[in-house]
Amino acid sequence: MKQNKKIVVLGAGESGIGTALLAQAKGYDVFVSDKGTIKENYKQSLIDNNVTFEEQQHTESKILDADVVMKSPGIPDKAPLVKQLRENGTQVISEIEFASEFTNATCVAITGSNGKTTTARLTHFILEKELEVGLGGNIGDSFALQVLQKDAPNYVLEISSFQLDDCYAFNPKIAIITNITPDHLDRYDYKLENYVASKFRIVQNHTENDVLIYDADDEILNEYINTHDIKSTLIPFSLVKTFKNGAYLSDNNLTITLENNTFSMPTKDLALNGNHNIKNAMAAATVASLLKIRKQTIRESLENFQGVEHRLENVLKINKVQYINDSKATNVNATYYALESMEAPTVWIVGGVDKGNNYKELFPFVNEKVKAIICLGKDNEKLKENFSGMVDILVETEYMSEAVKIAYKIAEAGDNVLLSPACASFDLFENYEDRGRQFKASVRNL
Ligand code: ADP
Repeated sequence: MKQNKKIVVLGAGESGIGTALLAQAKGYDVFVSDKGTIKENYKQSLIDNNVTFEEQQHTESKILDADVVMKSPGIPDKAPLVKQLRENGTQVISEIEFASEFTNATCVAITGSNGKTTTARLTHFILEKELEVGLGGNIGDSFALQVLQKDAPNYVLEISSFQLDDCYAFNPKIAIITNITPDHLDRYDYKLENYVASKFRIVQNHTENDVLIYDADDEILNEYINTHDIKSTLIPFSLVKTFKNGAYLSDNNLTITLENNTFSMPTKDLALNGNHNIKNAMAAATVASLLKIRKQTIRESLENFQGVEHRLENVLKINKVQYINDSKATNVNATYYALESMEAPTVWIVGGVDKGNNYKELFPFVNEKVKAIICLGKDNEKLKENFSGMVDILVETEYMSEAVKIAYKIAEAGDNVLLSPACASFDLFENYEDRGRQFKASVRNL
């Protein structure tokens, strides 16, 4: 099948390579362009599949000549080349949009400011017990590559707002919006409404035959839903409200009622700690219920799921002190839930690149639970302004190993040492994974 359609893939990461190979197989005229260096194994698979590519440059004439451009989510809309493409009316799409055209699978798409990865992995963990199901989007293998190589009848996809911005026809049968808190506003002209609208693109093609599962405790989500004509069948989840159709708490049981069919289990049996994880479990179990997974399977999966690295990850217990890696907490809301879930006096390692943080909502937890603060960043002024009056010990460092050693000296038996930075990691680390790994290595070196 020759399409004679020219597709340019901008950015040769996991999603770019997958798209290129799928497009090539579908008869597109494919060209991959990456401004940086392409990883050796990616390059090899392009060569093996006769896909033309360039690296360390963007040949504009070739790119502007495309019928359709797949843009990697890391490339901002403000990049001059992308602007130019849009001005020319060239279709700019995401991997999700492209790949979904070539599969009839049932897609469960998960977006939100926090909890995407945890909810996606947890949902996949339950579904895979009884269904053939792929995991893709921001995590797992490239969605496009899975569609090409071994198309599954079901997919769980983690989708960022950047990917949604370039989705037009994509229509997931089940969508989840975990929550919305201001994040990445630099990519949305610093307007919250643009960011919210981007998230809701996940339901832009929905009819009442499709489902939106969402956090009904989230004011921003409620406000948007109440003021817009959302076509989806709505299934809310909440820690404080109850529903005829939805997920809620009833006598400390996580309960889901869907069309008079009820699933229930004690929250104390959930493997993951914290109120935020009750919500993630509600969302995942609602999907599983909709897809007719047996209640026993859902229950056992929620009891056994081991969590995701860098998300409230228990690292080690040393001298009865628990060390917890929450490096993925790159905003205040994520750290809010981390501190909320602490059940012992906590030595808190915090800091990094501030994203316009407002720390006020953390004050009650800091007052109640935090015995010492270790500021780990190049610029700790804002942390000091906010917290220096609140704890007896507040120290600063630019080294993870030192931060951990200081924490070790301060913490006493029964305490927690929590790395939950509430900030981006780029001042001192390559990324949040690097930060989390350095934390774990330093703890193991104690
Ligand atoms: P995402 O993929 O959206 O970044 P993750 O599951 O990776 O979400 O979690 C990111 C951070 O947010 C972690 O620190 C985690 O503990 C915290 N978190 C997880 N789920 C939620 C939630 N539902 N609400 C708020 N914070 C959450």
